[in-house]
Amino acid sequence: MSWTGQTASLGRRAGPAPIPWVADTLALVAGVGFGVVIALAISSESQSLLSSPGGWFDAVARVAALTGTYLMLVMIVLIARLPWLERTVGQDRLVKWHRRIGGWPIALIVVHVVAVTLGYAQMTKAGPLHQLWVFLSNYPDLLAATVSFALLIFAGFTSAKIARRKMKYETWWVVHLYMYLALALAFAHQIVTGVMFLGHPLARIYWIAIWSLTAGVVLTSRVVLPALRNARLQLRVHNVVEEAPGIYSVTIKGKQLSRLAVSGGQFFQWRFLTKGLWLHSHPYSLSALPRPPYLRVTVKASGDQSSAVRHVKPGTRVLIEGPYGTFTKHARTNALVTMVGAGVGITPLRALLEDLPADVDVSVIVRASSAEELVHRDEVEALVRARGGSFHALIGSRHQVPIDVRTMNRLAPRVAQGDLYICGPDGFAQRVIDVADRLGVPKQQIHHEAFSF
Ligand SMILES: Cc1cc2nc3c(=O)[nH]c(=O)nc-3n(C[C@H](O)[C@H](O)[C@H](O)COP(=O)(O)OP(=O)(O)OC[C@H]3O[C@@H](n4cnc5c(N)ncnc54)[C@H](O)[C@@H]3O)c2cc1C
Repeated sequence: MSWTGQTASLGRRAGPAPIPWVADTLALVAGVGFGVVIALAISSESQSLLSSPGGWFDAVARVAALTGTYLMLVMIVLIARLPWLERTVGQDRLVKWHRRIGGWPIALIVVHVVAVTLGYAQMTKAGPLHQLWVFLSNYPDLLAATVSFALLIFAGFTSAKIARRKMKYETWWVVHLYMYLALALAFAHQIVTGVMFLGHPLARIYWIAIWSLTAGVVLTSRVVLPALRNARLQLRVHNVVEEAPGIYSVTIKGKQLSRLAVSGGQFFQWRFLTKGLWLHSHPYSLSALPRPPYLRVTVKASGDQSSAVRHVKPGTRVLIEGPYGTFTKHARTNALVTMVGAGVGITPLRALLEDLPADVDVSVIVRASSAEELVHRDEVEALVRARGGSFHALIGSRHQVPIDVRTMNRLAPRVAQGDLYICGPDGFAQRVIDVADRLGVPKQQIHHEAFSF
């Protein structure tokens, strides 16, 4: 199986373009939904409720509970991997938004717990600790909600940047999986005890509807769609080949791959169904456009899971989720493209290069410490030459062959007039972005794929 040269576009479905109005419409719907939630909270108040003992605490508790839970559902939808949202906004940005919102629901739920305890304590003239004990011992739904609260706080701590850095990805992932359990546990006490739902059937229907919608979105895009796709594709490892020290290409064979719509530069979540690898999926970009019946990824052994990929046996079943990502030809703003890549970051550029229309003028700069570390060099060079572009390989240490303003001006003098695609280790990518800034490349023309979220 040879991966050199351009893939014939015949017999392969092109990746669909982003749909910009999708993100705007969903943002509008989320905003209107938030407004309705605040209206629900306010309309459930009355003069007599507010003036009763603990009334103001209860009111604060209700507003905090409704808004906090609603924001939590929004966070879940953001990372539910909705196909059209993914290809319009990109998983990296969605994850960033998810994290940005993250602190609010946790803070609001903490406010809810404190305020509801103080409110009931005032009402029953008991101490707050005694009131907490009454909640836990007398209300079964509140016991479940307390477990949910503990899980939420734990997930909040593990999401802090410092904790994330210290924690294995797999541990962090399991903790986050518990968030779905936390939400399920919290649901019952909202419906059963929430004043705004008691005797308000419309409010109740609205609340159940947004929960059901969120659950439906998650189940459809994380379970049903991938299951149907994998049942159709029947992917199995065909072979594993060493490309460079510690970097391996895995070719995967499947059925009906001509129906898989994917753009060069996109990635899938890959799950190899073999001992030690089946539990987690990992993101890897396609390192070439599909050549039915084959797909290819190129993986650098950087941790436990990526190192184990080299030992995967031919015939092993593979499950995918995706394609995801906006690092594609659709991000381009004009017909002049510069690509800069290093290490295993060259791989999505290789696939993207194959996918660019023939009239695009391309300059490619790749770098590595030694010639043997330059993955897919022959393939990239052949693709660039075939379309009459310029190809430059920078070999040597960062100090010997830096990518700076001078180098960029020499190798890609028109970089500021076109689009710049960058993929490589974080430090490298940031340096190239800084150089691009200094050369006046407009921000919207810089496209960067980070290999971490
Ligand atoms: C969009 C994208 C595309 C990528 N494409 C490629 C590629 O084509 N080739 C390649 O070699 N590598 C690629 N990577 C990086 C690759 O996913 C990680 O190197 C791999 O998941 C590391 O897993 P590990 O268990 O071996 O290492 P670990 O030591 O467990 O993790 C190393 C780092 O990878 C991150 N990571 C681990 N597991 C995951 C996961 N499931 N999802 C997201 N991040 C994770 C962690 O944040 C950690 O910082 C890509 C990453 C992203 C986000």
